[in-house]
Amino acid sequence: TMLVAMSLGSLADLWADFMRASGAAERVFELMDREPTIPAGGGERPATVEGRVEFQDVRFAYPSRPDVTVLQGINLTLQAGEVVAVVGSSGAGKSTLAALLSRFYDPHQGRLLLDGRPLDTLDPAWLRQHVGMVAQEPLLFSCSIGDNIRYGRPGATDAEVEAAAKAAHAHDFIGRFPDGYRTEVGERGVQLSGGQKQRVAIARAVLKDPRILVLDEATSALDAESEHLVKDALERLMQGRTTLIIAHRLSTVANAHRVLVLESGRVVQSGTHAALMTQEGLYRRLVERQVVAA
Ligand code: ADP
Ligand code: MG
Repeated sequence: TMLVAMSLGSLADLWADFMRASGAAERVFELMDREPTIPAGGGERPATVEGRVEFQDVRFAYPSRPDVTVLQGINLTLQAGEVVAVVGSSGAGKSTLAALLSRFYDPHQGRLLLDGRPLDTLDPAWLRQHVGMVAQEPLLFSCSIGDNIRYGRPGATDAEVEAAAKAAHAHDFIGRFPDGYRTEVGERGVQLSGGQKQRVAIARAVLKDPRILVLDEATSALDAESEHLVKDALERLMQGRTTLIIAHRLSTVANAHRVLVLESGRVVQSGTHAALMTQEGLYRRLVERQVVAA
């Protein structure tokens, strides 16, 4: 049925979701790089995950443009449960960091580790169970809202789907549709607002309950109600999880344990918001311009 088809297609769908998040200007690359380079299956499936993530001297260029080095030696440790915000101009490499963490690609040099284990020794399907992603403009599948949420954990009961929707502040708007959770979305169904889509994607992540989260905050203005609800839902989702958040809002950055400032594939500054504000540099300029990321 629908759910079986969805899980078979999950890698391609996730990939599409991810590419959508990285913006329209990059669609052209979507066509060139549609096939993820990582084969499915095989590798370790550790019994527990603490959630410590390391990037060790990570260098990377996209397969379609091998001459353009996008990440130029990234060193970064996210402690288990730490929330790290990444800011920087458009094209700095923020979404690429997220792509490597979800292992859509392998770095050319250096490596990524999860709890000290190299990512390429882990079963990619297992990894993606533990790394949840909420994209900037989440892609919803052409099926019911309920099944869109259940995609986070196929086999979840209706009650579990509903509980996740409540935690994501999605339950109320879903309940206002005559067909509730059975409402079809996508091409032949209802159109959801940006904020509603984000909350469905957050509900999916709540249901999945991953140790590690990769979040790309929405850049486009959400309506005022959605904005508040999305922010609150994301804050709850992040609680106690290792989180890499591509932050567009100053309030998110200020709440993160640590902020990384990325420029042309390099970490140029790192520290708390307060500490970075005392330094001259890109971060303060971004904040003064009120654009922490694009
Ligand atoms: P950010 O998220 O900070 O805006 P990205 O990580 O999306 O930046 O992109 C970093 C660089 O990599 C940019 O120069 C971008 O054009 C390029 N890039 C992004 N995605 C692809 C892709 N799939 N194929 C080739 N180049 C890409
Ligand atoms: Mg991006």
